[in-house]
Amino acid sequence: MEKSLIFIPEVSEDFIKAQRQKAKALKKSRWWRQKIQKGVCYYCGRKFPPNELTMDHVVPIIRGGRSEKNNLVPACKECNARKKHKLGFEFQLNN
Ligand SMILES: [Zn+2]
Repeated sequence: MEKSLIFIPEVSEDFIKAQRQKAKALKKSRWWRQKIQKGVCYYCGRKFPPNELTMDHVVPIIRGGRSEKNNLVPACKECNARKKHKLGFEFQLNN
């Protein structure tokens, strides 16, 4: 990950809205369905049924992350709740 991605002062409401919409659309995509079919949580590596996995932004939208395939990973509810707004790699380091 590039350093420039880490500290982003502020993102606009419009940016957040647009990224949330994109994420919604991607959730219906074949790409995402195949991902959750595999059933592996990106963070803890355990297996889950597809309906127990949520779409997680590795770099959260509020930190400037985009709803793009390389920023979206399946996460179990437990990891998702623990991660909250931390960056993915920070979470992994503290885990
Ligand atoms: Zn997990």
